[in-house]
Amino acid sequence: MTDFTELYERLKQEQMSLNAELQRLKAEEKSADEQREGSPFGKREEGATEAFEWEKRLALERRLNDALAAVGHALEKYEAGTYGICDLCSRPIEPARLEALPQATLCLECKARQAKDARNRPAK
Ligand SMILES: [Zn+2]
Repeated sequence: MTDFTELYERLKQEQMSLNAELQRLKAEEKSADEQREGSPFGKREEGATEAFEWEKRLALERRLNDALAAVGHALEKYEAGTYGICDLCSRPIEPARLEALPQATLCLECKARQAKDARNRPAK
């Protein structure tokens, strides 16, 4: 039985820093909103930049949330005693893969297959 304690610690760390980043992003969003409300003569020429910033922030937020979900899922698996086991084929995930990506919950083979399926599936 492989010892995953170190990876577990890394996942916990990752979860904390992702949460902190998300909080920071939300605080930024809030202060940006307040700034907008504070200037009733809204500068139109800044609209485009703002929309761009907003979209960028939204994309980052989505990425952070996805990463948090992945980390959370891996931590759940750890608690359940199934950490390091592929979600799809129930075979052990390659140790090198876990080392590089502690939140991985699919083995390389399944991950590759999933990526291929996603490409073949028509966009939502
Ligand atoms: Zn697999």
